Amino acid sequence: MTATTDVPGAELHTIAGTDIPVITANTVVVGTGSAGFCAADRLWELGTDDIVMVTDKVGAGASRNAGSDKQTYYKLSLSGAEADSVDEMAQTLFSGGAMDGDNALAEAALSARGFLRLCDLGVPFPQSRYGEFVGYKTDHDPRRRGTSVGPYTSRSMVEQLEKKVARNGTPIYDDCRVVDLVVDHEGRSSAVRGILLLRTDVPHDGERSPFLLVRCTNVVYATGGPAGIYATRVFPNGQWGASGAAYRAGVHGKNLTEWQFGLASTKPRWNVSGTYMQVVPRFVSTDADGGDEREFLTEAIPDYGRMLTLVFLKGYQWPFDIRKARDGSSLIDLLVYRETVLRGRRVFLDFRSNPVRETFDHAELEPEALEYLEKAGVLFGTPIERLRHMNEPAYQFYLDKNPYVDLEQEMLEVDVCAQHNNGGLLVDAWWQSNITGFFPVGEAGGAHGVYRPGGAALNSGQVGATRAAQFIAARRTDDPVDPDAFAGAAEPVVAGAIALAETAAARRAGGAPDNTGDLLTQVQELMSAKAGPVRSPESIQEALVQVHEWLSTYSDLISADQTSRRSMNRTFLVRDILTTAYIYLSAMADYVGHGGKSRGSVLYTDPQGQLPLVGYGENAEAELDLPELFRFTLDGGALAHEVQETAWVAPAGDASGACAPSEIPTAEPAFSEILAREGADPAGLPVFRWRPVRPLPTGDDFFENVWKAYREDGNVH
Ligand SMILES: Cc1cc2nc3c(=O)[nH]c(=O)nc-3n(C[C@H](O)[C@H](O)[C@H](O)COP(=O)(O)OP(=O)(O)OC[C@H]3O[C@@H](n4cnc5c(N)ncnc54)[C@H](O)[C@@H]3O)c2cc1C
Repeated sequence: MTATTDVPGAELHTIAGTDIPVITANTVVVGTGSAGFCAADRLWELGTDDIVMVTDKVGAGASRNAGSDKQTYYKLSLSGAEADSVDEMAQTLFSGGAMDGDNALAEAALSARGFLRLCDLGVPFPQSRYGEFVGYKTDHDPRRRGTSVGPYTSRSMVEQLEKKVARNGTPIYDDCRVVDLVVDHEGRSSAVRGILLLRTDVPHDGERSPFLLVRCTNVVYATGGPAGIYATRVFPNGQWGASGAAYRAGVHGKNLTEWQFGLASTKPRWNVSGTYMQVVPRFVSTDADGGDEREFLTEAIPDYGRMLTLVFLKGYQWPFDIRKARDGSSLIDLLVYRETVLRGRRVFLDFRSNPVRETFDHAELEPEALEYLEKAGVLFGTPIERLRHMNEPAYQFYLDKNPYVDLEQEMLEVDVCAQHNNGGLLVDAWWQSNITGFFPVGEAGGAHGVYRPGGAALNSGQVGATRAAQFIAARRTDDPVDPDAFAGAAEPVVAGAIALAETAAARRAGGAPDNTGDLLTQVQELMSAKAGPVRSPESIQEALVQVHEWLSTYSDLISADQTSRRSMNRTFLVRDILTTAYIYLSAMADYVGHGGKSRGSVLYTDPQGQLPLVGYGENAEAELDLPELFRFTLDGGALAHEVQETAWVAPAGDASGACAPSEIPTAEPAFSEILAREGADPAGLPVFRWRPVRPLPTGDDFFENVWKAYREDGNVH
């Protein structure tokens, strides 16, 4: 049955006994960040203009709302006399460990193309008088491949791409939260058929359907990182992610354990990298009410010059790097973590006065720091005087934020925050997942390995989006399945969503208090306390037991106010977050079970390991007096050539989700369970496998041969 609806371009269909608007397009792009807009524009440029975009909030997302002192974009060198090559850049990316070589090569090969496209669209990357795009060295970067527009590089990218997509005339459906994917599982081959969305601006009063379906051939999933699983995060407000829906539909995950954490202010959320650290502020902690103020770094780092130097180094050694926790600057992150998580205190940066002493006794700084600050002409005064001398915009920045902070007058609250997920949904060389027609791009996809150069996330988003668009335009232009076949595939997910909304509303109507907000906070806080930058096998297990309990009893637990759109929205949001948290925690448990040790931005407690060391002077090799939780062993690259892959098996009898273990589309090795769970466990079953990284391709680059193949199929295969 079809009729007009209040959704432009949609037809009303009756599915699972309810009238629901359905939009039809070749491709839906989900998410309006830098990756999503890039994919939509590339598709349009390549002639695939039967596309729509959907998003939960067009103005949300990390690209538009996050940044740092100097937000970096990583690309092939395009200036100067230093040699660089696609091969060398691919090697750099690949050497991060646990990264697939085909993704590394594509990210290197397409980096100049993606970057120059942004320049042409109006992103003001600095260039010399002769057009050289000069660069600087960023972390894990042997060249000078980093560039920046300033604090808001990714915002500028989004703004220019958004204008272009508007000029293309691509429709954007705002206020649409992903609920579930519509996927056909036929034996070992699965194909996406569409997506189910909740319209968060529509009341649940029975007048109009609060749901919307898209029937399509391809889904480009640019929903960003699953930021919502952590409470302590520097992802902007309103960035949640939608990874749970993808796992529920059978999309595999990769390197899920690999998050990046670092020091950031929490109100407002912003990385305190670069100058904020280089001017060496005073670190203080207080009790929960702001009383009992004390400087705490000196407890573990009594040497004044050493302490100043480690704080200074945090400026350009920003992410928490476990290799630098042994005897380097990442000790600072651990000491902050001890105050906030282990001691329940609050930590602040005070720019108004110098650390420990009234004067800044710079002569005690180690040479690297001293030379830098001398060159910058700031061997004087207080941290705020140095900050305003070196980087006035960094001071102004906090004045302009909401809530604003005047660093001249008040302290800035900070913590060790989740900032980026290097892992994510599995992608192949064309950013297609294991589900045909489903392409995770940007931070939702898991293209990175353990370490990555600063700025590689933004490059990866542009490259993945371009690759997905190229593949779709060349190989996936078919019409979506017919309406009846689509209705059959969509029925279980629609029925499941309606049932969940009705059950939650009925419980609230029956008198149970609305618990959507509390559950959200509880799971986020649990994840930050037990599965953040410091994890132990016990803390992971503890969180796993709790999250499993919430998820497996979710439909008996959730109570939502039907008259509140926010509450109904959260009913689906919390399920997505719980699913994601459950799968991520299981991945951490599997990592430990596989012999994984501390690496990247994570410390895994190991009673056989060492505590961080004094690191200087006669006792350099002595262990510091720190909590046993900080005892760790470096993995030393032991698992750098392997990738952990994750799949979620739906509970037996659940027709809406992923397929049974025997049907998982899989190459060798097979997936294995790490948890003893019943087949009917309502939380489903996460399963894992470890496979070798896909190597860096060493294809034929003889021009005649590449050209011949290109004439046949554009080399899209
Ligand atoms: C503080 C900070 C500093 C950073 N600095 C750098 C840097 O210097 N260099 C670098 O390379 N990277 C950096 N990153 C990482 C980089 O910014 C992100 O990885 C990148 O912007 C992600 O882009 P994206 O398009 O994939 O996702 P986002 O820009 O996050 O967009 C996601 C989109 O999906 C939508 N969405 C989310 N959930 C749902 C849902 N459930 N349903 C529907 N829509 C949904 C959102 O509304 C949004 O439109 C930084 C990140 C942070 C947080």
